[in-house]
Amino acid sequence: MNSYTNRIALVTGSTQGIGLEIARKIASQGAQIVLNGLEAPKEIQTLCREFEENYGKTPLYIPCDLSSPSQIEAMMQAIDEHYGRLDILVNNAGIQHVSPITEFPVEVWERMIAINLSASFHTIRLGIPLIQRNDWGRIINISSISGLRGRANKSGYNATKHALIGLTKSVALELAGSHITCNALCPGWVHTELVQKQIDRIAQTENLDNQAATKTLLQAMQPSGRFVTAGQIAELVLFLCSPAAAEINGVAWAIDGGTTAQ
Ligand code: NAD
Repeated sequence: MNSYTNRIALVTGSTQGIGLEIARKIASQGAQIVLNGLEAPKEIQTLCREFEENYGKTPLYIPCDLSSPSQIEAMMQAIDEHYGRLDILVNNAGIQHVSPITEFPVEVWERMIAINLSASFHTIRLGIPLIQRNDWGRIINISSISGLRGRANKSGYNATKHALIGLTKSVALELAGSHITCNALCPGWVHTELVQKQIDRIAQTENLDNQAATKTLLQAMQPSGRFVTAGQIAELVLFLCSPAAAEINGVAWAIDGGTTAQ
């Protein structure tokens, strides 16, 4: 029996992109995964089958819309009822919107605060009592390099990702001295649907094909000229869950091909 065998891990926004890779990586160690995201039921069925075949455990899928505090409460209650514990909480779900602040739709701002920030407040406040039952836990918040530096036309994303790091630090201090840590990861560009939309926008506004628009996106910001991969972020999550990371608490760790070194 390895150290993950009895562990329960909730990864929000884990039906695609970075969250799915994190869920796969934690599942590969033997933990029971709770999946969350807004995909169609058919895709969820396929995903659950994939986890069962590859990792030997069927994930619990909870179709919670993270913009709703009452749905988050129901999700955390379901985890309590199913497992009576929680060990790893990865707050990954997030949305993006790119536009000048004068044109930023108010409803998108409100939704972004709810999903990118408030959802983590709720999962953490409701998750800590479940995590404390076994006196060990890891809370990992997926922020962004947009939580460490500003970027024009991303007021909502910058604001929420900075605030998520503030939340991380405060929670880390409240947990200090226990065996539960709270950290943030700050990825640079990762090629997911969220970023493809930004590539499409560059292609459209600058009249470029997909390859040229991708190059423009990377050259504008990421010194490596390469995407960070979701798999690399998942490995970092696994490291933060390891005994070697027991004293890493309250950090905002960039994984960005050198972006924040500039
Ligand atoms: P993605 O769009 O590919 O996936 C987002 C996931 O969140 C999906 O599973 C979706 O169903 C889920 N989701 C969205 N709104 C939801 C809601 N209201 N309720 C429940 N689930 C919801 O995004 P991604 O690129 O994988 O990004 C994941 C996280 O990483 C986000 O927080 C994002 O800000 C952050 N991030 C991404 C990049 C990047 O370059 N892709 C860089 C830095 C940080």
